[in-house]
Order: sequence, then C-alpha cells, then structure tokens
Amino acid sequence: MAGEPQDDCLFCKIVAGSIPATIVRETETTVAFRDINPQAPTHVLVIPKEHHRDAAALAAAAPQLAADVLRETQAVADEDKLESYRVVFNTGSGAGQTVWHAHAHVLGGRGLEWPPG
Ligand code: C5P
Repeated sequence: MAGEPQDDCLFCKIVAGSIPATIVRETETTVAFRDINPQAPTHVLVIPKEHHRDAAALAAAAPQLAADVLRETQAVADEDKLESYRVVFNTGSGAGQTVWHAHAHVLGGRGLEWPPG
C-alpha cells in the first residue's frame, strides 16, 4: 500500500533506525540526514518517513507530505547558514536516482554550476 514501509528499502531502514545515519533534523513526518557520499560541503537528504518511490509518486499520493519535505529543505539550509543552495530530486534512473524512496538533496557551501551534469 502507498506509504507503507518496504523491507528492502534503505531509507525506510534509516527511518526505522536499523541503519545508522547522521540525522540533522527530524519532524513528525520527515527525516534529514547527511549524505554518506557528499558532493558539497552541505549535502543533506530530506526524506518523508512514509515510503514513496520518487518525488512524482510522493506529490501525487501525499501533496501535504511533499510540502513538508520542501519546507524541511529550507530548514536545513537555514541551519547550515546557506545563502544559496540547490534542491534536487533525481527522478528515474536516467536522472541518477539510485534509491527508490523519495528524497530531496540539499546541496550548498560551494559554487554550483548551471546547467548541472
Ligand atoms: O538521487 P539518488 O537516488 O542517486 O541519491 C541517493 C543518495 O543516497 C546518494 O547521494 C547516496 O550517497 C546516498 N546514500 C546515503 N546513505 C546510504 C546510502 C545512500 O546517504 N546509506
């Protein structure tokens, strides 16, 4: 069922606490933790606690939860005192998505080029 934890999902395991992560913020509906392979001085992932396979599925099934995730990206940027930052939702394998639990990357702390690679 949409939103239910998945046994084979890495990020559901982080939500459950059965895989360690450096958690920087937690709300009733979201968790934010430092990416294990950071691509910038700040590289934090914001995820909904509920399982949704990608950002599009999240927005369709639970728009309020999608808004919670977006709000938390701003909170992460504020905590790390980022004046400029980038929020990325890789959606689909062609865009680089490797973990099939919706997540926002918050990247900052260095210059970020446009267009991205
Ligand atoms: O957008 P994409 O699906 O590629 O992002 C997944 C991210 O999850 C990667 O940046 C990867 O470094 C991160 N990750 C993590 N902790 C894990 C496994 C993956 O931060 N245990």
